[in-house]
Amino acid sequence: MDTDIVVIGGGVAGSALAARMAAAGLGVTVLEREAAYRDMVRGEAIVPWGFLEAVELGVEDAITRADGMSVITRMIPYDEALTVDAAQKRSSDLAEVVAGAPGVIGIGHPELREALANAAEKAGATVYRDVRKTNVRAGSHPAVTYQLDGLTRELSCRLVVAADGKFSMTRAALGVEMHSTVPRVKLTGMLVDDGGAWDRDVTSIAVDGRNQYIVIPRADNRLRLYVGRRVDDPQPLTGPRSIPDFLDAYRTPIFPESDRLAESTPVGPCATFPMCDSWTDTPVVPGAALIGDAAGWSNPVTAQGLSISLRDARMLAEALLDNAKWDPDALASYTRERTERMRRLRFSTALTDLVSGFGMQDRGTRRGRMLAALAERPELGSALAAVHSGPCSIPDEAFAPDILTTLALS
Ligand SMILES: Cc1cc2nc3c(=O)[nH]c(=O)nc-3n(C[C@H](O)[C@H](O)[C@H](O)COP(=O)(O)OP(=O)(O)OC[C@H]3O[C@@H](n4cnc5c(N)ncnc54)[C@H](O)[C@@H]3O)c2cc1C
Repeated sequence: MDTDIVVIGGGVAGSALAARMAAAGLGVTVLEREAAYRDMVRGEAIVPWGFLEAVELGVEDAITRADGMSVITRMIPYDEALTVDAAQKRSSDLAEVVAGAPGVIGIGHPELREALANAAEKAGATVYRDVRKTNVRAGSHPAVTYQLDGLTRELSCRLVVAADGKFSMTRAALGVEMHSTVPRVKLTGMLVDDGGAWDRDVTSIAVDGRNQYIVIPRADNRLRLYVGRRVDDPQPLTGPRSIPDFLDAYRTPIFPESDRLAESTPVGPCATFPMCDSWTDTPVVPGAALIGDAAGWSNPVTAQGLSISLRDARMLAEALLDNAKWDPDALASYTRERTERMRRLRFSTALTDLVSGFGMQDRGTRRGRMLAALAERPELGSALAAVHSGPCSIPDEAFAPDILTTLALS
């Protein structure tokens, strides 16, 4: 055996796991495809419950010291039904959501991966970058072959961890079956320099007509803007040619300084993703385990993926450290917990989506009825809080499927 664990993918989940396992004294090698992390238009808001996972993993200092990190303390529900003033009066305090988390952390995805890969190396893991052609062999004698500096090498290990993200080739090679919801919306995102027009303390998920907006500020005048449109919208925002229309979509009276937002300068690629949930019932197979997006993801509208990845790293690390054998039975605690966690988050995301009313015909009236039903029976909306406080912080009744029907038919 060359090492205990080979992690394929030095992203958020892979490096966080490597940092934890190396700190516990195990041999860990991380194989990362990119020579230098680049903007892939991915998650840049760590919700409060995810920050607590980082604390448990011992990587919170790496995150808070990362380049361009900022703390977002307010969520403002800008909306076509509200004036800017009225929306600002409904602001919620993100610093108060869970003790120990300062709010939502705004951090570039490349910077976050860099910080966690450095933390893994510092803890004693070996991190190889610019690795090509990884090939996994699972089963009772796990091993990975890969190319580095033009040479093909092989590493045998006790466990291979697939952490190579949404489009995981390792997952495909292992033949792990995935389930998925059907996307209703396509989300286009781009990093811009807004010259400081947007309030750096504030994040927002907003709706105006055919557009759904998500705004995530970062330090140094950086701002991650998203525009979502229904999959059947006749004018989809796809590809670099849609950048002028994408920015123009921000010329809306629902935001303060909207003209300045629309005149922001693009400073990163523009990419579009179908918004769906995906999951597997088998994140552990003989000789291999899947974590982060490789094991399935949550619809990005509720910004859960980074937190899910950090919790995956923690839960798998605990199972590995608690068990001498690393087969699917011994690691069943990770499988059970992840399955239930993803079920709850799918519910919370569906509820958030429903209550936003985005894409509904007659949105104002139907949303008005749902909000009235929630005012009368606030318990129906308890699962909404899971998005920031965590899926395990809320009682199971909050995730009963009939809640969705009750609200949809209100
Ligand atoms: C549009 C969008 C917006 C999002 N917004 C948010 C948000 O605001 N907050 C949030 O929490 N989540 C958000 N997410 C989700 C979040 O980005 C992901 O869930 C998270 O990055 C998953 O981490 P990961 O480590 O699994 O994958 P990644 O962070 O993608 O890392 C995977 C790593 O594997 C490497 N890799 C890939 N293939 C190979 C290979 N064959 N060999 C070696 N290495 C390989 C990649 O280079 C990468 O470094 C968003 C996602 C999308 C698509």
